[in-house]
Amino acid sequence: MYNPDIMKSVIKASEESCGEEIPVFAAVAVESTVLSFSGNESEASRKPWRHAEFLAIEKAYEKLPGTRYLDEASIYVNLEPCSFCASILERVRIKNIFFGAYDSKCGGVIHNARIFDYSLTKPHIVGGIQEERCSLIISEFFERLRNGEI
Ligand SMILES: [Zn+2]
Repeated sequence: MYNPDIMKSVIKASEESCGEEIPVFAAVAVESTVLSFSGNESEASRKPWRHAEFLAIEKAYEKLPGTRYLDEASIYVNLEPCSFCASILERVRIKNIFFGAYDSKCGGVIHNARIFDYSLTKPHIVGGIQEERCSLIISEFFERLRNGEI
């Protein structure tokens, strides 16, 4: 079940993000209960795999000790997950993936690796939610980066 308020909070956090991280935020929820919320930490940690989705999944597991699969959970993210994060979502058997902007370069759900095309688990995937707004957040970030403002 899609909850627009959770997506709103993810988009709002990414819009308000002003640091050196690519502004991607993710929330993991069961129905309308948010288990975890996280932003990218790749730059701060100097670990390029510390993506919002990965961190949100880890935090969700901390909230649910003994849980093996998140097959009742949804992830909300403002950008199409990359192939690494999509693989993690496959491994945890996430139920729903709701994302904003498409990512033709690094996305791994609809683009490139298309992780779920070859997966036994087939989450419900909805992409392009508030697509223009979400794309703008990412393109403005890279514009500021190119201009040396970050
Ligand atoms: Zn990722």
